[in-house]
Amino acid sequence: MVKKVVIVGAGPCGLLLAHYLLSRGEKYEIDIYERRSDPIIVSFSTSRTYPISLNERGMRALRKIEGLEEVVKSRSLEVTGTIFHQKNGKTRLTPRNKSLFTLDRTSLAIVLLEKLNQKYDKSKLNLNFNCQCTSVDLVAKTVTLKNVVEASPVEEKHEFTVDYDLLIGADGANSQIRENFFAIKNFECEQKYVPNDYKSIFLPRPNENSGINLEQGKIHSWILNDSTLIVLLHQQDGSMSGVVLFLHKKNQIVNLSSTEEVLTFFQNNFPEVYQMMPREEAEAFLTRPVSRILTIRCNRYHQGDSVLLLGDAAHAVSSSIGQGCNAALEDVVLFDNLLDEYSDNIEEVIEQFTVRRKQDAHALVELGDNAFPSTMGLFIEFIFRENIAKTLHKLFPHRFSPSLSELIFETIVPYSEILNSYKGWISKVKKSNAKL
Ligand SMILES: Cc1cc2nc3c(=O)[nH]c(=O)nc-3n(C[C@H](O)[C@H](O)[C@H](O)COP(=O)(O)OP(=O)(O)OC[C@H]3O[C@@H](n4cnc5c(N)ncnc54)[C@H](O)[C@@H]3O)c2cc1C
Repeated sequence: MVKKVVIVGAGPCGLLLAHYLLSRGEKYEIDIYERRSDPIIVSFSTSRTYPISLNERGMRALRKIEGLEEVVKSRSLEVTGTIFHQKNGKTRLTPRNKSLFTLDRTSLAIVLLEKLNQKYDKSKLNLNFNCQCTSVDLVAKTVTLKNVVEASPVEEKHEFTVDYDLLIGADGANSQIRENFFAIKNFECEQKYVPNDYKSIFLPRPNENSGINLEQGKIHSWILNDSTLIVLLHQQDGSMSGVVLFLHKKNQIVNLSSTEEVLTFFQNNFPEVYQMMPREEAEAFLTRPVSRILTIRCNRYHQGDSVLLLGDAAHAVSSSIGQGCNAALEDVVLFDNLLDEYSDNIEEVIEQFTVRRKQDAHALVELGDNAFPSTMGLFIEFIFRENIAKTLHKLFPHRFSPSLSELIFETIVPYSEILNSYKGWISKVKKSNAKL
């Protein structure tokens, strides 16, 4: 019998899952419900997007669907290293052995959507935008949704209910589907905000006579002593986008109250960024909302025989580790492998998903919190350790494992194995973070 799958959330995870399920022949019909508008028709406000780097974990998941990897690569920029800009104008390059591919989150969603639209008609796939899930009846197996119009949230909302054979909560870190798990005995979930908040930043292609020439194909990063950090990446049109991350507690960014103050802040603290910042961007930056980043650690991802959390809904992680999306796409590969292994028996598949993913998902959150140090002292030690590990691994690849950052960014080694290899260092950073 054809199973009706309801996916809540048309982010990278929910959309890739639709590809995987529909490529399994006639077994599944998919309804996707997304609270935002269709990004192909209505471009998202820029405050809601940011660049995402995909490494082999994510690319491998895309590769399994014919043509996806090629299109994503064609809309991405290849990144071969990070340039750290110092206050004195000097730079330090950390090269990568393997490239990352960066594009903004909305572009990734658009690629996945375009391919779904090309391949499948309404008899197999129903995409419903401006529909927000408000509740789930786990016993009746129904989801309640309401129509929402992004531009006018106060408009009257129409509510409706749909039934499902399998419900996938791919609705991100603040998952509504996960909220419904709390009614269940034995469900535990730790939700924590990371210490850093962020604002997106967008800079136009610099004028040719401006003298500004930040190397393409590199992540550019600037940091202040109070941990305020800017990460910028080129876009295909030569413009740059990225995020300004700053401590939630000691937050000089939210205190900026005029365009002049924004410009002065960048001029004093990030002069190179200031040179690229037109007045309009300073104005937009002022009003752009501050976003918080939530991390999620659950003891289970499935409920009963028919509900499963995937991606950020299951294991949102700090953006500092650049793995949330890669891990969300990797979830889809595991889910698909389990469908093969258990001959599409959903009850067994979702139960096994919890069993097989929990250790790595918890390790991912731990790595996100504690792989990279926040203090300058430990940061210097980290660089020293990285250099030694890289050299030893290069000379004796069978005796010494790659460095921590190489394992995270350049391999598909399970997160739990990475955590295990570097547990001494992680616990050192954890102690230092706890003191902070
Ligand atoms: C600043 C920043 C930088 C990042 N950089 C990287 C990076 O370099 N590499 C990387 O791998 N990851 C990165 N990430 C993490 C990455 O963005 C996420 O891990 C990834 O988007 C998760 O995909 P998802 O589909 O699970 O969830 P999401 O992308 O959050 O998508 C969830 C979707 O569900 C929808 N939704 C939510 N609630 C409802 C509801 N009630 N009803 C209907 N729809 C709903 C949302 O509108 C959204 O479209 C970064 C994150 C941030 C914040």
